[in-house]
Amino acid sequence: MTERPLGKWLNLRMGRDPDIQPVSVRELQEWQFASLRQTLFQAVKNCPFYHERLAGIQTGAVHSPADLEKLPFTTADDLRNGPENFLCVSQDEVARAITLASSGSSGPPKRLFFSAGDLERTIEFFQYGMSPMLKEGETILAILPDSRPGGVGSLFAESISLLGGETVLPVNPSYISTLLNLLLDSHASCILGPAIQIHALARMLENKGITINHVRSVLLCWDVLPQTSMQTIARVFGCEVFSHWGMTETCLGGGVECHSGSGMHLREPDFFVEIINPATEKQVPDGHKGEIVISTLSRRAMPLIRYRTGDVGCIMPDECSCGLPLRRLGAVEGRLDDGIILPGGSRLDLGELNNIILAHKDILDFTVDYHTDELALSFKLDVLPGSKPSPQIKQLVMDYPKIQQACANHNLKISARLANQDGTIHSGFGKRSITVNPIKAGNL
Ligand SMILES: [Zn+2]
Repeated sequence: MTERPLGKWLNLRMGRDPDIQPVSVRELQEWQFASLRQTLFQAVKNCPFYHERLAGIQTGAVHSPADLEKLPFTTADDLRNGPENFLCVSQDEVARAITLASSGSSGPPKRLFFSAGDLERTIEFFQYGMSPMLKEGETILAILPDSRPGGVGSLFAESISLLGGETVLPVNPSYISTLLNLLLDSHASCILGPAIQIHALARMLENKGITINHVRSVLLCWDVLPQTSMQTIARVFGCEVFSHWGMTETCLGGGVECHSGSGMHLREPDFFVEIINPATEKQVPDGHKGEIVISTLSRRAMPLIRYRTGDVGCIMPDECSCGLPLRRLGAVEGRLDDGIILPGGSRLDLGELNNIILAHKDILDFTVDYHTDELALSFKLDVLPGSKPSPQIKQLVMDYPKIQQACANHNLKISARLANQDGTIHSGFGKRSITVNPIKAGNL
């Protein structure tokens, strides 16, 4: 892949000739902080929440990441407690509102508002980010929700039509057999979607002995799966696999890889990313893992300052071989809240269970419930039609050292049973997580 499209996009966003050499990392950061000061000025002036939260703070003196540390964080609870207080524009200027149900809590949902310009900047990022993967006249199978106007599926389809391509949006992401038929019928040259669906699609293709050669690239979004799953996807589709990171709070697009495995170039004209130690709340150096914190730089309807995303990742310390000054996010390893504390005190993350279970060739997807009152972990397995791997999966889980210890010393019980066996999976468009019953008391 070439660095040109994202380089052109960056130049255009900075008001420069698209074909000249992009700015240096230092120049980009200076430009970002000028945009941030402008955002802070507007937020304090127009947005009730920040008018109060940033009162008495010298927002005009924020010139560097170290200066940014003097500003307070914004949390998901702040958004839940009064999303309208974040509005910087009148309701008439809101082109799209997205409501996010809160997982595992009974609190009010988060609501985010975007102006027409906010959505256009996302379409532009998708367009330039996708252009190396899709040629004019080609089709992409995009496993994305919400094809309503302003929804992610529709924004994405709009960006692909600007490239002269066509988008196929499946209605239900859980019917892997239907996805397979759509893929074969559409002759799609690119697949985009959550990693678990594409993993299941690859397992099913392999099981049926179908070889296809029309897919040139796969772009995974939302979820990170183990290296083994990524390798399966690359092998079965015979193509490069790229990663994308984003969330509703980043107006959907967030970062995209320029080369397979290179790390995701961040959407730096639109937000500044810090990585913090969630316990000390201090910034950590590049190359160190921590919570991803974003400050928006161009958002009109609802700016976010130092918003704690809850996602865990790191900024890659070296420069990308493509030479772009856009910093890169390494693999996003999950969320701060997707782990449980096992009896005995060890933390168990969904990522560890993915590593153990998805490596088995018959597994399409799985869910896991942790019953705190019975001290039991129960797995429900979505498998290839005709396969019965429950005993092997139970054994693989029980052989994992920290689970083995919790079973031996604290009477943790493990069960695994078959769930979907007809080519469907549990996962839809939401993030996968360990479900804790009856309360999330064991969660971090
Ligand atoms: Zn690059």
